[in-house]
Amino acid sequence: MIFVFWLIFAILVGFYASSKGRSGIGFFIIAIVLSPLIGFIIALMISPVNAQMEMNAIESGEMKKCPSCAELVKVEAKLCKHCRSELA
Ligand SMILES: [Zn+2]
Repeated sequence: MIFVFWLIFAILVGFYASSKGRSGIGFFIIAIVLSPLIGFIIALMISPVNAQMEMNAIESGEMKKCPSCAELVKVEAKLCKHCRSELA
């Protein structure tokens, strides 16, 4: 029974890590081998990979890059929140 929780928690750690732009599979394996708690603590401590998170956001169609300042803004945005330039 505890194995089921172990597995579910390990999967959650994997999802959490991939939301930070890290390898979800890698963290899943760490959580399985060491312990889900240790995997979760490591995933908490690591800093998000911004480049990877930007890529994910653009690919999911959630965000786009402002042509003026290259910051990410929402796809629906008409005005860049970073540099106030108009977006086409
Ligand atoms: Zn901008």
